Amino acid sequence: MYKKSIQEFIKSKKLIPGGVNSPVRAFKSVGCDPIFFKKGNGSKIYDVDGNEYIDCVSSWGPLIFGHADKDTISSIKKALKLGTTYGAPTIIETKIAQQIIKMVPSIEKVRMVNSGTEATMSAIRLARGYTKKNFIIKFSGNYHGHGDSFLIKAGSGAITLGLPDSPGVTKNIAKDTLIASYNNLESVEKLLLKKRNQVAAIIVEPVAGNMGLVLPKKNFLKGLKKLSKKYNCLLIFDEVMTGFRVAKGGAQEIYNVTPDITTLGKVIGGGLPVGAYGGKKEIMNYLAPDGPVYQAGTLSGNPLAMNAGITVLKKLNNRVFEKLENISEKISNGILKNIEETNTKAIVNRIGSMMTLFFTDKNEINNYNEAVKCNVNNYAKYFKTMLDMGIYLPPSQYECCFFSLALSDSDIKKILMANKIALQKI
Ligand SMILES: *Cc1c(COP(=O)(O)O)cnc(C)c1O
Repeated sequence: MYKKSIQEFIKSKKLIPGGVNSPVRAFKSVGCDPIFFKKGNGSKIYDVDGNEYIDCVSSWGPLIFGHADKDTISSIKKALKLGTTYGAPTIIETKIAQQIIKMVPSIEKVRMVNSGTEATMSAIRLARGYTKKNFIIKFSGNYHGHGDSFLIKAGSGAITLGLPDSPGVTKNIAKDTLIASYNNLESVEKLLLKKRNQVAAIIVEPVAGNMGLVLPKKNFLKGLKKLSKKYNCLLIFDEVMTGFRVAKGGAQEIYNVTPDITTLGKVIGGGLPVGAYGGKKEIMNYLAPDGPVYQAGTLSGNPLAMNAGITVLKKLNNRVFEKLENISEKISNGILKNIEETNTKAIVNRIGSMMTLFFTDKNEINNYNEAVKCNVNNYAKYFKTMLDMGIYLPPSQYECCFFSLALSDSDIKKILMANKIALQKI
């Protein structure tokens, strides 16, 4: 069934580290070989062996309208005829800036980059330059891309001195990153008190999507805003995953909290490599060439990527989000029913079209320490059974499903039928 994929993986492993260009693609945490894909269309994705899957990953979020969305493809085609890049200003960059500013409540000015990682790295440099302070506070289990400052999570003793997760991140860099616990305001205030007047920013995923889906508790985000004001530091919302995904204006619209800086990625490029960061004018004006904080990019604002991005953003109206909610609610309700009927120890966390099925005997998962106690072996079994039945899920317990508007009622039925069988098999 997966013969060609297996052969291709043997080849790629000889030439590419681990055979993949991003680690999660190697399927390590579900203990099988990765699938190689060759095309996508609407809700479906096809592998090199010719197997068809209903896609519940959507390239980790960007494909909100499904694969090969006609409007996106035609806008790229149109732009392509005029060349691929100029390395100089274009009108489409102003247009996408206008569109982003219109959609995201806290953004007054915005700078385009090429990935979410670039956006978060640049955002903390800007925060440090603007505040003239060094430390940042991040939350264990929150992912902000692979910038050195972010590859640090909490371990015992890490509450004051961050310890690097990855070799190559120096202790000197790690020590400037302080780790707090998600949904725990006291853990944040403790750090702010300890490093009084030395913290540049608190960076947070307003809805955490990188330890499986973990929602902010009531008043957590409002509390962070208050703390940032009280201790005179900036609040950065990393909305690379949630921006244009959970609502037109991202999580900040839903929870009604205004961060100082917002980072964006994924949906913003319509499937092309794009990131962005934006915020209050007086902060953004600190960037070169107006201000002293340097940040640049040869291909930033690339015309193909900008055309794809603006096409997707312009299509995101309230109706779209209602439909997306409808699709996702049907799926999560069906799964909850299956969990009950099969007596499975599992819970579902969901906001809009982001969802995680956690295999756990707990009733809630609110932070990293709770998330890591899930039964990853059960997830691996579940993943494989679903894959064999033509449902493509994220190959890790600690990633979200992203549903697209392309999912039909018959797709949903198939997902739920497979889900019941897979749960029975555990
Ligand atoms: C995916 C993600 C990033 C990193 O974006 P890349 O485009 O993969 O570099 C950063 N922050 C969050 C919250 C993400 O989900």
